[in-house]
Amino acid sequence: ARKPLIAGNWKMNGLGASAPEFVRIVGAYQGSLKNVVDIMVFPPATLLTSFATSTRGAGVIVGAQDCHPAPSGAHTGDISAEMIADAGGKAVIVGHSERRAEHGETDAIVRAKAEAALRAGLVAVICVGETEEDRDAGKAFEVVERQLEGSVPNAARAKTVVVAYEPVWAIGTGVTPTVEEVAEMHGRIRRALQARFGAEGEGMRILYGGSVKPDNAAELLRAGNVDGALVGGASLKADDFLAIAQAA
Ligand code: 13P
Repeated sequence: ARKPLIAGNWKMNGLGASAPEFVRIVGAYQGSLKNVVDIMVFPPATLLTSFATSTRGAGVIVGAQDCHPAPSGAHTGDISAEMIADAGGKAVIVGHSERRAEHGETDAIVRAKAEAALRAGLVAVICVGETEEDRDAGKAFEVVERQLEGSVPNAARAKTVVVAYEPVWAIGTGVTPTVEEVAEMHGRIRRALQARFGAEGEGMRILYGGSVKPDNAAELLRAGNVDGALVGGASLKADDFLAIAQAA
């Protein structure tokens, strides 16, 4: 059985003043939640060290939102997977649609970043998802299957890789696919992972992301092959994020 995972992607939000919000998540998690759900929080890199310090021993996993494929070198402004691990991070998001769109990241680049994550001992949360244009053209499955094939490294295992399905048109829009549409896409992703990785592919967690809120989380999380959620906006408030975790 796959333990549910609720992950919060803070994107480019959060200052030192947001630390109490994270501390509340850590405090709440140490109760009964810990037994039933895994929680990951991905703050901006500027807060990684302080969050990693405050979660020590509490079980909330902290990670970064991106990494460079190389371990070190002349790459101004970038952060390596090894640096994330050194700062206390245990996971990293790669291939988020905002990075694919704003930074021109291809499947090959995303795969190299995921390989870097595994090399550094981090869990790689690999994002895939079609645009509205892809979906309208009837190409949603084809696009997502191609992204999976190109972005997930051969070394992926159930314990080291999480796939996040985030339809681009559902991110930050308040619009979500229907439960049936989510179940259908997650079923396709599951079959692709099983075909390539066998039992390890069966064990990999597949998260849904895109406008997950406290009031729709239970319904979306009940869909077949949905093993958790990758939450953007609603992860910034501890109350909302914890309500979503409770729905898992
Ligand atoms: P929202 O939850 O704000 O729609 O963002 C989803 C997302 O992109 C998480 O990575």
